[in-house]
Amino acid sequence: MYKYIDIHSHVNFSAFDADRDVVMKRAEENDTIVINVGTQIDTSKKSVELANKYAEGVYAIIGLHPIHTGASYHDVKELGEGGKEFTSRGEILDKDAYRELLKDPKVVGIGECGLDYYRCDEESIAKQKEAFVAQIELANEFNKPLMLHIRNGSAKVHPAINGTPQEGNLNAYFDVLDLLKKHAKVKGDVHFFAGGLQEAKAFLDFGFTLSFTGVITFTHDYDEVIRNTPLDMIMTETDSPYVTPAPYRGKRNEPSYVKEVVKKIAEIKNLPESEVAFAIMQNAKRVFGLHF
Ligand SMILES: [Zn+2]
Repeated sequence: MYKYIDIHSHVNFSAFDADRDVVMKRAEENDTIVINVGTQIDTSKKSVELANKYAEGVYAIIGLHPIHTGASYHDVKELGEGGKEFTSRGEILDKDAYRELLKDPKVVGIGECGLDYYRCDEESIAKQKEAFVAQIELANEFNKPLMLHIRNGSAKVHPAINGTPQEGNLNAYFDVLDLLKKHAKVKGDVHFFAGGLQEAKAFLDFGFTLSFTGVITFTHDYDEVIRNTPLDMIMTETDSPYVTPAPYRGKRNEPSYVKEVVKKIAEIKNLPESEVAFAIMQNAKRVFGLHF
């Protein structure tokens, strides 16, 4: 009997090359369902392969991360040491390549896609928007939910829009919402929710669930948002190998730690842990159309 679900994990990344099967087995032993998420065509293919290695309890989401629409990004945990040949040279979304993957019944969503204003300029924002809209169209075509990646920018790191250095924060949440309102016929989930009450309300009103990571185990920044998110609109994830929850800080993150996120949500909402775990599983079944 599955009790927990990690709706956003990257066991498909190179950080797990040495012990991927052991990590997946530990998830199974901890009654945890895993959805591995792609970030470009290679990691998307890998997530589908991984899902098909197991008879049950493992699914895939495929798509192009906004960061990989640009050429400069390389993360060793994602693509490996000396994996330069796999570094995205600025992937232009090939709809047919992703359509091929979408035929697989283990693929339960599209993403992670959206807008990342953390490191960007005018040109990269235009590319990100184009790739995001293309993925919304694919989601409409296949009637699959969207796994959204949204990150705000700060004045310190992003240079210029229309040639003018930006003052203050650049909010990606409302730009994503505008594009969804214009194009999307499907709903989905806001992965790694990092907005405030206003952003939370806007996405919840639009019918998107919010998912939380291990970050909530070591900061109180999201307590208020979690208190205000109805139990039937909340999800849990690890975003492994990143953001390891307490008490495992300092170690590589993995799906079996998702129970720490459930425990914290139960604590914040002052509800029994079993009730919260059950509700989250129902939410995931509903949003991603899982049958088991
Ligand atoms: Zn991710």
